[in-house]
Amino acid sequence: TKTPGSYSRVMLKISGEALMGDQGYGLHPPTVARIAQEVKSVHDMGIEICMVIGGGNIFRGLQGSAQGMERATADYMGMLATVMNALAMQAALEALNIHTRVISAIRMDEVAEPYIRRRAVRHLEKKRVIIFAAGTGNPYFTTDTAATLRANEMNCEAIFKGTKVDGVYDKDPAKHADAKRYENVTYDEVLQKHLGVMDASAIALARDNDLPIIVFSLDEPGGFRGILSGSGTYTRVHG
Ligand code: UDP
Repeated sequence: TKTPGSYSRVMLKISGEALMGDQGYGLHPPTVARIAQEVKSVHDMGIEICMVIGGGNIFRGLQGSAQGMERATADYMGMLATVMNALAMQAALEALNIHTRVISAIRMDEVAEPYIRRRAVRHLEKKRVIIFAAGTGNPYFTTDTAATLRANEMNCEAIFKGTKVDGVYDKDPAKHADAKRYENVTYDEVLQKHLGVMDASAIALARDNDLPIIVFSLDEPGGFRGILSGSGTYTRVHG
């Protein structure tokens, strides 16, 4: 078991909505820049970083299919949305002089590298931040599953899931004043109690490979670095 402060390679998963600020839709460049700064402060510790960013701020497959669009087509549109978010994050990181690579699960050679596992590992060894775009490349999946898949492939020690709250609660803390935060929770408990950390396929994939998920608040300035240095509040999902 890794203790905070001893990580050397991590996956950071954020939703597309984390990039939209208060706008309700799309990208809010100052917010993207703020998150890039959080990533930089961890990169400065010498920790190797992979990222997966969702696409929900632009398009979700389920949204399209609810309006009559074929599910697979709508999901491909969702995957393309994640590429836009990845490029925005790359630009923000490079503005801070962090070398990055966007690696797309759907070939798009003019804007992103294709996914070649050993090449991606090499980028990490060279301390480049990798942003994995286009999810898993398959419809019917989510970017949570993509983050879990790539974290396993890259031998990340944990997935850090940045959210609006500082962990996993027994009920929605925005609605219930008496909501209780878990310090630790098992994968099976998350599944049985529908705790909504990540979708069930992502949780199962993490469980089957013993990959811890650390849920923390991305709204807390310095929060990401704090947890990696051994402080702050979060929930650890494990076996
Ligand atoms: N998506 C997909 N396959 C994947 C990852 C994502 O089809 O492997 C599509 C799916 O339609 C999803 C959308 O891309 O709704 C955006 O991803 P997600 O909902 O995970 O984004 P988030 O909620 O994290 O912003």
